[in-house]
Amino acid sequence: MVLNKQYKRLRLVLGDQLNASHSWFKQKDKDTLYIIAELHQETLYVKHHCQKICAFFAAMQSFAKALEKAGHHILYLDLDDTVGYKSLPQLLKHLATNYKISEFEYQQPDEYRLLTQLAELKLDKQITIRMCDSEHFLLPFSEIKDYFKKDKHHKMEFFYRKMRQRFTILMDEDQPLGGQWNYDAQNRNKLKQNHIEDIPSPLTFNHDVSPIMDRLRRHKVPFFGSETNTLIWPVNRKQALKLLDYFCTCCLPKFGTFQDAMTCQSKHQWSLYHSRLSFVINAKILHPMQVLEKAVDHYYRHQQTISIAQIEGFVRQILGWREYIRGVYWANMPAYAGKNHLNAKRALPKYFWTGNTKMRCMQSAIQQSLDYSYAHHIQRLMVTGNFCLLTGIDPKAVDDWYLGVYIDAIEWVEMPNTRGMSQFADGGIVATKPYTAGGNYIHKMSDYCQHCHYKVKEKVNDNACPFNSLYWHFMIQHRKQFEKNPRIGMVYRNWDKQAQEQQQATIQRARWCLKNIEKL
Ligand code: FAD
Ligand code: SF4
Repeated sequence: MVLNKQYKRLRLVLGDQLNASHSWFKQKDKDTLYIIAELHQETLYVKHHCQKICAFFAAMQSFAKALEKAGHHILYLDLDDTVGYKSLPQLLKHLATNYKISEFEYQQPDEYRLLTQLAELKLDKQITIRMCDSEHFLLPFSEIKDYFKKDKHHKMEFFYRKMRQRFTILMDEDQPLGGQWNYDAQNRNKLKQNHIEDIPSPLTFNHDVSPIMDRLRRHKVPFFGSETNTLIWPVNRKQALKLLDYFCTCCLPKFGTFQDAMTCQSKHQWSLYHSRLSFVINAKILHPMQVLEKAVDHYYRHQQTISIAQIEGFVRQILGWREYIRGVYWANMPAYAGKNHLNAKRALPKYFWTGNTKMRCMQSAIQQSLDYSYAHHIQRLMVTGNFCLLTGIDPKAVDDWYLGVYIDAIEWVEMPNTRGMSQFADGGIVATKPYTAGGNYIHKMSDYCQHCHYKVKEKVNDNACPFNSLYWHFMIQHRKQFEKNPRIGMVYRNWDKQAQEQQQATIQRARWCLKNIEKL
């Protein structure tokens, strides 16, 4: 670490604040030093997939180089440099003293943990501390309270419509383009064999991350997932824009149609028509509006090949879900992190770390996550998430796994999606009913069941699909709670119509599955 110069101002750039368009960077200033640091605390708050750590560190290095080239003063500290500092405040205090700064500035962190840590930072009295906006989200932070109230459910669809109107996206004057706000019903197609052959291979990149992997090993950072010295994820703006371009050209025409589809038949096309832009958006390498404008513009210029259902499906994810999830997070933190509405306590089965299970759907979604640090939304929600919900896994263990395994996982977006949408641990703040399903849903949306040890049409035999009996067990276990929900009532009427022996056999099979969860 070179500490030989005096700076007036120190500015902190966190690993998910790689926003080259931030107003900080409009002017070069010889009195301002930017600090970008590989922090031990950021590698340790959960056990991470090694590709996730590599992607963040590689992107931070690339950003530091670009800023330096643009004439800014940058101090990049790697794990070797920061080994002596247990926490971010410790490091900042040290730097503040060494550089004799009089001002310290940081962008508002998106995680409660870091926001609190920086809000509590104590530097010498004469140093002014300032926090500024990260200039990334579409809904200003100050307006979150107008849209989201603590412990209340807010309908995503209404929020999304307001955002469409506010930013005039896919609007025809004051009406939604095409006459409908939402084309979700057209987003539920299964992939047939001939479709699978047409799926484009994901656009990947080749970064040599062996020095980062060496540092992780040298510092004994705990990690999991497929180890590789070649990272395939985009880590800078140029690559991010290339991926966005690729998405618009090759994936957008079928994005909506196959948004919920899953397959294990195509090893080389593992991300289907999904954009895989979440990492570069969450790291703020790309601005969400830049992504929306590019995709919408592409749609307008290619309406012969791209239907409104495709672009609307994509816009809904970024303008709707992403901003909505952030609103839920900030309206409900810190209490949200402790929510366990269904009192789920079971430990996470070992196969989440190995992929070693006979359930083909789980094996495929987990193995893909371990291989690439990526699974798409329905794999996360209706396969692994559904399984954890049905088997009553402790939401903290589920959260930790999702936060560690995915390339795009940052708590503000991971937690409401996992604890809320997928585990119903928030008691209905995100979703008004739990996202549960038996094997039939997975069979409808994928080709997993054809290649599975278990039989999807069976409920009670030894080779019956575990999801089937676990689904009923879960619904019966929580009957009191869900029976009055008008969206679920029908389920109980169907159950009550079944013969008692059938009901007993189903519950018995579920109990066997729960007892032998590690063997499934
Ligand atoms: P695409 O399918 O191409 O969608 C386009 C973009 O829309 C994404 O890049 C993302 O920015 C946004 N988006 C879509 N759905 C959501 C959503 N529900 N919440 C927020 N943004 C959304 N997303 C994360 O970014 N980080 C997470 O840690 C995360 N954890 C999740 C955990 C669970 C249990 C579930 C069910 C979903 C989670 N998601 C998370 C949301 C979603 O699964 C991912 O954003 C998406 O799979 C990323 O892949 P993609 O870029 O190919 O997305
Ligand atoms: Fe999954 Fe059941 Fe289908 Fe097997 S049969 S892939 S366990 S849903």
